[in-house]
Amino acid sequence: MDLNPAQRSVVELLGKAGPSRPAFEHGLVVELAEALCRGLAPIQSVLHEGDKIYVSKHDLAAIHSCEANFRAERAEPFRWTTAAARGVVSHKAIELLVHWSGETHPCALVDEACARLVDADRSISDYLSTMSTSERAELRGAAVDRVTKFVETFPPLSPRWCPVTESPVRVELFDGSLVLAGKTDLTLGRPGEKVIIDLKSGGPAPAHREDLRFYALLETLRLGVPPRKVATYYLDAARAHAEDVTDGTLRAALARTIDGVVRALEVARGGAEPVVRPGPSCRWCPIRSTCAGGTEYLTRTDDHEQGRAPW
Ligand code: SF4
Repeated sequence: MDLNPAQRSVVELLGKAGPSRPAFEHGLVVELAEALCRGLAPIQSVLHEGDKIYVSKHDLAAIHSCEANFRAERAEPFRWTTAAARGVVSHKAIELLVHWSGETHPCALVDEACARLVDADRSISDYLSTMSTSERAELRGAAVDRVTKFVETFPPLSPRWCPVTESPVRVELFDGSLVLAGKTDLTLGRPGEKVIIDLKSGGPAPAHREDLRFYALLETLRLGVPPRKVATYYLDAARAHAEDVTDGTLRAALARTIDGVVRALEVARGGAEPVVRPGPSCRWCPIRSTCAGGTEYLTRTDDHEQGRAPW
């Protein structure tokens, strides 16, 4: 198969060739599961009967960045935007592409993805059904851009690689009242050899690596065997940031998950005063207009982006 250089680099980075995976300590998975239950035991005092609390990578990233933003976002009803819909539509289109037999192209995949999502019993269905012609055109263009970049930079995925898209994973604790949940964009390989891949537009952020370590932890607890590698693939730059899964990465993910869940419940239910930490999330924060730290951060970064600040 003729691959272009970008596609070859994906195969070289994510393929099995290269140093063999690190050995894991005997009993590691049991130890991680027990440590998770032990670390989260204190939250049982704030869980109510009938609770079903879902904790996602987004929740963990939010609580570990700005706690005030975490609380403000959860107080606001979720509203679909073109930017939010773009991710769902393009992921659906990539899912169709991976399992499509015969010729197709990004525009057709995006149109098919939109049609499937309109028919699905999901909150995005109403948004897609009622959007204006210009909003639909903008969404279509943005989603086609993402799918085109995936086609250009990812090698065609052989069935032998066991590609799976948009796969939900979950770990339930305390009789299901707490659910650590995720949905992997793409996984390749069989248990024990899996590579978990997150597809991103835009540039790298430290939280992306933490997101994937969280997914590696969920996969390890679910299957009893760690994945081989995790990778964030940046479609705009056609670059992957990959990391081997080791004892260390799983332990780091465990500690961050426990800290994040405990603190999230303290902030959301325990009345703890949230810590304000200005950063990239200020740009989308629902309370940015009344937050002094956020306003100052945005003014500074806007100046920098426009070239007015010194290097
Ligand atoms: S504007 Fe920024 S600092 Fe202020 S609450 Fe929102 S995310 Fe936090």
